[in-house]
Amino acid sequence: MKDKKFHLIVFGCQMNISDAERLATTLKSLGYQETDNEADADLIGVVACSVKQTAVDRIYGKVHNWQLVKEKRPLITMLSGCVLDYDRQKLQDKFDIFLDIKKLDTLAEEIKKAAPEEKLALPSFFDIKPSYYSSYRAYVPIMTGCNKFCSYCAVPYTRGREVSRPSASIISEIKELLEKGYKEIILLGQNVNSYGLDKASARGGSASGGGEEELNFPQLLKQIDNLGDHFWLKFLTSHPYDMSDELIEVMKHGENINHYLHLPVQSGSDEILKKMNRHYSIEHYTELIKKIRTALPDVSISTDLIVGFAGETEADFKVTEKLVRDLKFNLSFTSQYSQRTGTVAAKLYPDDVSQETKKERFNIVNNQIGKNAKLYNQTLVGKTFEALIDVVNCEEKKCKNIGKLANYTAVHVITKEPLKVGGFYQVKITQADAWGVLANLT
Ligand code: SF4
Repeated sequence: MKDKKFHLIVFGCQMNISDAERLATTLKSLGYQETDNEADADLIGVVACSVKQTAVDRIYGKVHNWQLVKEKRPLITMLSGCVLDYDRQKLQDKFDIFLDIKKLDTLAEEIKKAAPEEKLALPSFFDIKPSYYSSYRAYVPIMTGCNKFCSYCAVPYTRGREVSRPSASIISEIKELLEKGYKEIILLGQNVNSYGLDKASARGGSASGGGEEELNFPQLLKQIDNLGDHFWLKFLTSHPYDMSDELIEVMKHGENINHYLHLPVQSGSDEILKKMNRHYSIEHYTELIKKIRTALPDVSISTDLIVGFAGETEADFKVTEKLVRDLKFNLSFTSQYSQRTGTVAAKLYPDDVSQETKKERFNIVNNQIGKNAKLYNQTLVGKTFEALIDVVNCEEKKCKNIGKLANYTAVHVITKEPLKVGGFYQVKITQADAWGVLANLT
């Protein structure tokens, strides 16, 4: 096994990137080495995303090429991540291994079937130490699955119901990362706000009650906040239905918790939210945003929006547009609705908004977000913040250092000497635009 190489192709969200980190470690423990070059790989793994049809289409395209490669040399292909049953049935025969990401401990067995020389047995998903892709920013999964069943989404079917990772295991992973000098920790889950509730309901009590030493999400966040003196702590993703006052209080008093929140609203129309099975009204969402902004006046809030959902009328869209303007989101991950076979929405509602209308609505929303971002970024001018540097480009004694502020705003810092990638710097904001801010070192 010594000379074998693997190559991973990752589609979709941060959760998939985090899964890929654990998958990489697992493959390394089997004796494989990672390669960036697909053509060198003996094993190619796809961490798939069912959310967008384009990601699925790209997988179909690649599978065809690999079948041609297999005619010339041995190659193991593996499919994992979020895969709807419908796609799985069509793709299953084309991959050698189909791996449920929560069953990484079965990977050795699966590879053994495809390549009989392998014999290792492995620990369970959460016990596997990931190969972090960054030396200063780590994505730490705290739970898998989702119980919300939004009508357009495949996650509850592809990843299953919510399973919270034991808090002791999360805390120990983060302690280790901070000891190694990691600067930014991002907790991951499809709905982090319901962390611990699966354990509570199993015991018939609250997440913190019932005798077992388990925590709910605000309690977990507070404990992580206390693990180090100086680091950035964020979490993704929050569901508006489960976002509690207790969590807002913990964010308000935290030392290291960033005042950044990703709170997907998806639509401004109550009718559409009902069809999406989102479990909240716009009144609830708006009140929640007000409460958060009262507690954290400097908070930066991003959202997810789907335009052109089944049955979305012009009137539905107008209220979404108004909501984006009124609530001043400064960042949105906006998508044009693409029907996914196998989801409840695909069974119940015809995808009846034209591509042209979807695109038009997408552009209107993104223009408004750009205006909001510019206004928000202008409020930062003249103030001093901490920046974390990600990329450095130097040319003729001038370096452009690109990074982020703790509130997720993109920042460019111009210096004569390069700054350190992964380093914290105090910067003063000098200019602002929709894309981010320019700053000088203080
Ligand atoms: S909250 Fe909804 S959109 Fe998010 S993962 Fe769960 S079902 Fe999917």
